[in-house]
Amino acid sequence: MDFSYTAQEEQFRMELRSWLEANLPEGWVEGTFEMPEEQAAYGQFLRDWQKQLSDGRWAAIAWPEKYGGRNATLMEEIIYHQEMVRVKAPPLVNYVGLHMVGPTLIQSGTPEQQEKYIPKILSGEEVWCQGYSEPNAGSDLAAVQTTAVKDGDKWIINGQKIWTSFAHFGDRCFLVARTSKGEKKHHGLTCFLLNMNQPGVEVRPIIQMDGEHDFNEVYLTDAIAYDSEVIGHVDDGWRVTISLLMHERTGIGAQVFSLEQQFSELVGLAQTVTEDDVPLIQNGDVRKRMLDLYIKSRGSLLNYYRNLTKQLKVGHPGVEGSMDKLFVSEVTKELFSEAISLQGQQGLLWKDDAIYGKSYWQRNYLYSFGQTIGGGTSEIQKNTIGERILGLPKDVGR
Ligand SMILES: Cc1cc2nc3c(=O)[nH]c(=O)nc-3n(C[C@H](O)[C@H](O)[C@H](O)COP(=O)(O)OP(=O)(O)OC[C@H]3O[C@@H](n4cnc5c(N)ncnc54)[C@H](O)[C@@H]3O)c2cc1C
Repeated sequence: MDFSYTAQEEQFRMELRSWLEANLPEGWVEGTFEMPEEQAAYGQFLRDWQKQLSDGRWAAIAWPEKYGGRNATLMEEIIYHQEMVRVKAPPLVNYVGLHMVGPTLIQSGTPEQQEKYIPKILSGEEVWCQGYSEPNAGSDLAAVQTTAVKDGDKWIINGQKIWTSFAHFGDRCFLVARTSKGEKKHHGLTCFLLNMNQPGVEVRPIIQMDGEHDFNEVYLTDAIAYDSEVIGHVDDGWRVTISLLMHERTGIGAQVFSLEQQFSELVGLAQTVTEDDVPLIQNGDVRKRMLDLYIKSRGSLLNYYRNLTKQLKVGHPGVEGSMDKLFVSEVTKELFSEAISLQGQQGLLWKDDAIYGKSYWQRNYLYSFGQTIGGGTSEIQKNTIGERILGLPKDVGR
């Protein structure tokens, strides 16, 4: 792969840069912008940002133009990630819609479904969540017990989902339910495009260890989905389920660009924190650990480029997304753990008491554990890599 940028690509970068300059909230780049604290106001802020992105056709650049994308090339996608990370752009409230449901609808949805849902995914008018995990079906996703029973042109859905990110903002849920008892566990599943704003859908918050609220339990009691809200074929939802997971892992892998920036911030921290008035960056052991982290984060980036190149050739994300997901989440965890260690006892201080970066390091350290679990745990990624890339025998016990 050629890593240099053409004049046209640099022009693309400049176009995005000037759009960001004109559209980011005032004070965003300078760090003086205050994010709304109250949940509803925060949600509205994120929806407005998503709408701005979509109005500028910057919401899903890799999608085909006919669906509202820019048909972006691989290099343009890389530039896009670099620029968004450079300005630390606000997070995407419709991450699931843009990175998971949209691509799956383009791949497997009917023309009617594409027409109905895709514009609203882009604009953030409908925020999506992903209803996969259940109390006894996480890594073993095919064990889902939520049922959908046919009743005329409707499906009656009962069960419980858990760890559903953004369900508290969610208008729709990409839901997996059991529609029949198949010969094997992954037979007899069906994917639904469930309307969350209906009686029978109850969302209960789960508070994380950092005190934030990103995910929820979702209880379904006689909730209704229509035939037109089935994606793919009834009882053959496993194929669609897996295709969405591949998009999810590839999307998570794109966090390698944040990792690069976080590494430079870590170097900055090691230059700031001192021991006996000497910056820690001058300590030989610290430098060795920094070098190790640099090699790992650079390795993750190069691996990501390699996998994107393959994706470009075959036209869809492949199993290599598991490698990206594994590396980026594990190296991120290591990086933030190092940042906490560098601060010594001060690393334990939290929120207003934190000495460095307004508890940026502490928050990200706590969050980094979840990153190695969400989208499939590191152990599961290793199984996938072993079986599907290295051709090793199947996991014992399965
Ligand atoms: C931040 C975050 C966001 C999430 N968002 C969503 C969401 O929006 N929607 C959604 O549906 N889910 C979501 N999840 C759930 C996530 O997908 C599951 O937590 C994950 O798949 C693991 O499932 P589990 O929690 O049931 O753990 P389990 O599957 O019970 O695993 C427990 C432990 O056993 C290990 N293990 C299990 N099976 C094997 C095996 N075969 N080989 C080796 N080790 C094994 C696991 O690696 C893990 O360490 C989110 C999770 C997190 C942390």
